[in-house]
Amino acid sequence: MTQVIRTSAELREKVATWKRSGMLVGVVPTMGALHDGHMSLVREARKQSDRVIVTIFVNPMQFNNKDDLAKYPRNEDHDLALLEAEGADVLFAPGVHEVYPDGFATVVSVSGVSEPLEGAFRPGHFEGVATVVSKLFGMTQAGRAFFGEKDWQQVQVVKRMVEDLNVPIRIIPCPTIREEDGLAMSSRNVRLTPEERALAPKLYAEMQAAAEAIRAGAPVAETLAAAKAAISAAGFGDWDYLELRTADGLRPMTELSEPARMLAAVHLGDVRLIDNIAV
Ligand code: AMP
Repeated sequence: MTQVIRTSAELREKVATWKRSGMLVGVVPTMGALHDGHMSLVREARKQSDRVIVTIFVNPMQFNNKDDLAKYPRNEDHDLALLEAEGADVLFAPGVHEVYPDGFATVVSVSGVSEPLEGAFRPGHFEGVATVVSKLFGMTQAGRAFFGEKDWQQVQVVKRMVEDLNVPIRIIPCPTIREEDGLAMSSRNVRLTPEERALAPKLYAEMQAAAEAIRAGAPVAETLAAAKAAISAAGFGDWDYLELRTADGLRPMTELSEPARMLAAVHLGDVRLIDNIAV
């Protein structure tokens, strides 16, 4: 049975009883519209903790685009059924007012790693993420938190925040889960038209080919430029970025000199796709 909890007071009581019997609590923060990517985090949390809390909160503070917030898919009944099947102990789904009551005035802002890439194209996004994640860590009192590498920069930002603020939680990154054709699973994929959905895997395919070429010694800038051109020519919309960065710290890289990550954000129809791979 997955218990649905909507207030932090009730959650705190529940967690306190677990902790009194020495249990390790894991949390999986999400915005709902759950898919296999989310469920892989829940499975990992089950393996690595005694009790699992999945949070569903579509956090207005991290949306820099009102339309994206309004169109964000929501289906709590379906989500709950999936969580029941996976054996999550608690679904914590607070309302906006529970998270941001009147008078709320604090923002958690991580500089450095949150500034390029998503930070540059979605102003305020990572402040929203860092703030809500700090709150969710405080509300759940979890010892481990599970995040997807699908949002590589987000993992980096959260790790930095936890270290800087001495939050007593361990961040566990989990691999990106993909559709059979390679498209990274995302709640926003349901907004792709059938034509766009057929095109979408091209992003990952071209990224992989570019990564292979760079590993074989091809020049970074030229290889990325060619990959962007090929993806655009296939019918994608505007580019936000396709870059090679250091895997840790996301510093710019002009040649492959340490573990690297290739990160992309590109528009396809109404949807902004992001992806990233190891190089
Ligand atoms: P979201 O609901 O999009 O905020 O995502 C909640 C968590 O699930 C985040 O840690 C994401 O990185 C993770 N996640 C989303 N999609 C995937 C995926 N395809 N594979 C692995 N993790 C994912």
